[in-house]
Amino acid sequence: MTEEIIKLSNSDIWSSAKLEWNFEYAYYSEELQRCLCGHYPIKNVCVIKNSDNKNETEVGNCCVNKFLGIEDGNKIFTSIKKLKIDKSKSMSPEVLEYLRKKNVLTEFDYKFYSDTIRKRKLSDKQLAIRERINQKLIDFTSYESNSNFTRINLVLKWAEDKSWFDKTFVNSLKSSCEKKGKLTEKQTLALESIIKKLKIE
Ligand SMILES: [Zn+2]
Repeated sequence: MTEEIIKLSNSDIWSSAKLEWNFEYAYYSEELQRCLCGHYPIKNVCVIKNSDNKNETEVGNCCVNKFLGIEDGNKIFTSIKKLKIDKSKSMSPEVLEYLRKKNVLTEFDYKFYSDTIRKRKLSDKQLAIRERINQKLIDFTSYESNSNFTRINLVLKWAEDKSWFDKTFVNSLKSSCEKKGKLTEKQTLALESIIKKLKIE
């Protein structure tokens, strides 16, 4: 596992290589995947990004804490698990911050949720708002939305050295996916047709 990470890092020394990595996002995978450490299957997947060379890789939450000292991943999974059982509960404050950083929440959402995060008794109206915001976390971390992200990032990476390619539309898909947690059917079809037409692998 350390070797795999070092290969993707600028530094050859683990103690400094690991500092290059930051938590990017987490998702719950419907497909069974293998962690870099060999652990199988993993369902809680953390995407980490190297801040120096922009490399991205996925690890299971088995490794994200142990090697990288990143705790956000596990906090997100704990909140998702809790909310899937009971949507009237609150996510943890760290997860709320995470969603804000990812521009998933409106200013109203964030303020409302922070103000009521510790309240057990909410009015019906308040409860409906809390549940709507909880759903945003679930959508944002779903396998579906993250496979969309993977496809969008594939195109953007491919387009990096192609100045003739207008990235406006793909960027708009990305921000729409970030806000809503998923693409519409029409958007998904448009994305797939770009990938097919330009033979992006
Ligand atoms: Zn692992």
